[in-house]
Amino acid sequence: MQEQADYLIVGHGLAGATLAWELRRRGRSVLVLDAYQPDSATRVAAGLINPVAGKRFALAWRIDELLPAARTFYRALEAEFGQLLFFEKPILKLFSSVREQNDILARSAGNPWGDYVADPVRPLPEVPGVQQPFGGLELRRGGWVDTTAVLENLTQAGRENGWLRAETFVPEQLVADATGVSYGPGLRVGRVVFCEGAAVTRNPWFNWLPVTPNQGEVLDVEAPALPTNYVLNRGAYVVPLGDGRVRVGATYRWPPFATEPTADARQELTQRLRELTTVPFQVTGQRVGVRPAVRDRKPLLGTHPAHPALAVFNGLGSKGVLLAPRLAQVLADALETGAEVWPEVNIIRYQALYMAAPPTAVAPA
Ligand SMILES: Cc1cc2nc3c(=O)[nH]c(=O)nc-3n(C[C@H](O)[C@H](O)[C@H](O)COP(=O)(O)OP(=O)(O)OC[C@H]3O[C@@H](n4cnc5c(N)ncnc54)[C@H](O)[C@@H]3O)c2cc1C
Repeated sequence: MQEQADYLIVGHGLAGATLAWELRRRGRSVLVLDAYQPDSATRVAAGLINPVAGKRFALAWRIDELLPAARTFYRALEAEFGQLLFFEKPILKLFSSVREQNDILARSAGNPWGDYVADPVRPLPEVPGVQQPFGGLELRRGGWVDTTAVLENLTQAGRENGWLRAETFVPEQLVADATGVSYGPGLRVGRVVFCEGAAVTRNPWFNWLPVTPNQGEVLDVEAPALPTNYVLNRGAYVVPLGDGRVRVGATYRWPPFATEPTADARQELTQRLRELTTVPFQVTGQRVGVRPAVRDRKPLLGTHPAHPALAVFNGLGSKGVLLAPRLAQVLADALETGAEVWPEVNIIRYQALYMAAPPTAVAPA
């Protein structure tokens, strides 16, 4: 007998996991295929949610809407799995020079960061073992998420309950028609949503999207004397994991990519940690992954211009932890009710690329 589901989701990183959760919450039947990769972006990520970041030190896009949704999602998982997953911690943004201090503080007039930044006039707390010669700012309401534990819990639940399989999706086995999609001889679904991260560049229906994969590395470090109550940031992020361990990240590299963790990244991150702290530390591990980055730094959501049964959720770049939960709802609304996808993230903005280079590889009949 043919197996049936409302949705087939390809990929179970943050994009696929949040979308599967959202659709199942709405009572939809879902089957997720995931080619388990220990170095997928989600498994390597430092997990940070940072409400104010970047060279311009501006509030993150749509933060007032994204952060509550992220918080609700990770707290719901915590309740389901009985494990703490979202560690809300203040982030100390430490200035690297007098110039940076002046630039950022000059922008504080008029309170542009709302309650995401503690009073800029108040001196930072002195944190033992942390070098802070130029001062800094304390960012609030962010922290970090244990993305590996998020995926481990959901993957195990999906396998036990039959809605997730460790399997590689093969494009040649997909056939779309007017009423849905067949995959191989045994599966019939209403829609397929591709959530493959950087591998979307090899997807025959969506390879025209301007995803420019970017490789990053993080270090696992033993540093028992570093504070556990703050995330630190100057040049690199230092995320307290507990038990005397921190994660230090991350690097950015455009192709060609390394196939393994590199000595360059290890040196760069070690050096940044050395500049940040006076306490002894030891590097115990190093991991490398690839971010699905997009030219305009905004995610990619929507249905295929010619095949409405095929959709995509990608382009989470370096902010998937904050972005994915709310955007999964936006895409689910579009798929379930026909609501418009937000224009900033709708793939329709790149339709000219599709028209210029229509995919020819395995486009369904
Ligand atoms: C070093 C590093 C540090 C980062 N730090 C942070 C951070 O601090 N905060 C933050 O918000 N973000 C961070 N990110 C970014 C974050 O990891 C990404 O935004 C997010 O994880 C992307 O999720 P995704 O689901 O799109 O992709 P992925 O996590 O890559 O998941 C894609 C999944 O699809 C599967 N797949 C692909 N092709 C197929 C196929 N044909 N069949 C079946 N399965 C398939 C893969 O196996 C994988 O499991 C970091 C990334 C890196 C690399």
